[in-house]
Amino acid sequence: MVSIHWFRQDLRLADNPALTKAAKRGRVLPVYILDDKNAGANAMGAASRWWLHHSLTALNDSLGGNLSVYRGDPSDILTGLAARFDVEAVYWNRCYEPWRTKRDTAIEKHLDVPVETANGSLLWEPWDVKKDDGAPYRVFTPFYRKGCLHAAAPRKPLPPPKNAAYLHDKKGSLQIKALNLAPNTELNRRLEPHWRIGEAAAQKRLRAFIRTGLKLYKDGRDRPAAPYVSRLSPHLHFGEISPNRIWHAARRLGHDMHIDHFCSELGWREFSHSLLHYNPDLPHKNLQTKFDAFPWGDDAALLEAWKTGKTGVPMVDAGMRELWQTGYMHNRSRMVVGSFLVKNLRLHWRHGERWFWETLVDADLADNSANWQWIAGCGADAAPYFRIFNPVMQGQKFDPDGGYVRAFIPEIAKLPNKYLFSPWDAPAAVLQKASIKLGDTYPAPIVDLKQSREAALAAFQALSRDV
Ligand code: FAD
Repeated sequence: MVSIHWFRQDLRLADNPALTKAAKRGRVLPVYILDDKNAGANAMGAASRWWLHHSLTALNDSLGGNLSVYRGDPSDILTGLAARFDVEAVYWNRCYEPWRTKRDTAIEKHLDVPVETANGSLLWEPWDVKKDDGAPYRVFTPFYRKGCLHAAAPRKPLPPPKNAAYLHDKKGSLQIKALNLAPNTELNRRLEPHWRIGEAAAQKRLRAFIRTGLKLYKDGRDRPAAPYVSRLSPHLHFGEISPNRIWHAARRLGHDMHIDHFCSELGWREFSHSLLHYNPDLPHKNLQTKFDAFPWGDDAALLEAWKTGKTGVPMVDAGMRELWQTGYMHNRSRMVVGSFLVKNLRLHWRHGERWFWETLVDADLADNSANWQWIAGCGADAAPYFRIFNPVMQGQKFDPDGGYVRAFIPEIAKLPNKYLFSPWDAPAAVLQKASIKLGDTYPAPIVDLKQSREAALAAFQALSRDV
């Protein structure tokens, strides 16, 4: 008796409900299919592909070299495999991105063998968390407090399947490197030092976070130079670890403000997935349609300065350089650079969403689009339009020692803290002493923060008036 387990965003053996069921049934052909065709505009960006290459390599090792790998249309590939291996059932864990659900529904109808699916990626599925009247939540706090926390507790994590017998498609499988996911050695050189990838690495990171970061999470999570966040996001996105394992590892320690806050952040991930499920246009359409009339700018030079971390505003540049150098950006910085793009530069949030999609190792359609809409003010439960992050004050408050800015912008590292977040305020003698020539060794700011803030407020206010 042979069944297929189709790995997608669940690149792990432990707490993998669909794989566990398949393994109980008999021999399993574990497969991964790179599907750029159905993904279309949502095909993975370069940093995600780089991660995927290493994640598949780690998964293949855990499967004793038995992962069969393909590229193309999963419907054709699964149909062919089902016939060749006399397959009796196909298993997968559900995905929630609209293009994937559409494809999976079609495959389920098309395949001649039964398909069994499970929930391996969310604590609560979108259709299990709804308001009393059956409508989906649009505001986070009631979604989490009333919806999630009053629903059935998340499943306890499962062990890896015992004595599983895996098959390998020796004739048809590609080598992982033939997928050409990480052809760019420059990218590898840049990102590799920052990450350990795969299921074992994810579990190790969770243990380290529980031992150290979690104890100071509530306030520590706001400081980009501090080691108090979990950095589990890429592991979660690729399913190297389940949210259930993380949730129960934290919950086992009981309740305090740090643990509860951390669990609520996992709740934000659930909320993003719910928003995407009920609003499949979330990645490209304003949830609040009045924003369709907003007069976005289109200055390509401003966008380029933002992408390359050369805006002349240190907290913004530090975040953008962290992203480029490591494939990750701290959440506080994501909010600062996001607000700067849409409010101070008045460039469309879609530019930010696309750049993050290309460069983040944790790029996730639900989290990325929900958060960009939140920061732009056009999403559900969004930051109000008048909330414009001041990158100078953000630096002073959340990077008080300047460790973050100095790490990513060495050319201004010698500035005293007083001027580190606003070099344009520094007297000439201070700049000279720090070997800085504004506009030469480090850019002069590309916009005036005060003026651009006022212009943004006026534009957003006009939008509210017009509706
Ligand atoms: P921790 O603080 O340790 O939190 C634990 C987990 O909770 C995270 O791994 C993540 O899964 C979840 N989480 C935390 N904050 C959020 C949030 N605001 N929204 C949804 N889930 C959250 N996160 C992504 O995973 N992928 C993205 O593409 C993404 N794009 C973003 C874009 C913008 C503009 C902003 C403001 C935020 C974005 N986030 C995204 C959310 C958040 O920044 C990251 O999840 C977080 O920084 C990851 O670091 P961590 O694992 O150390 O988080």
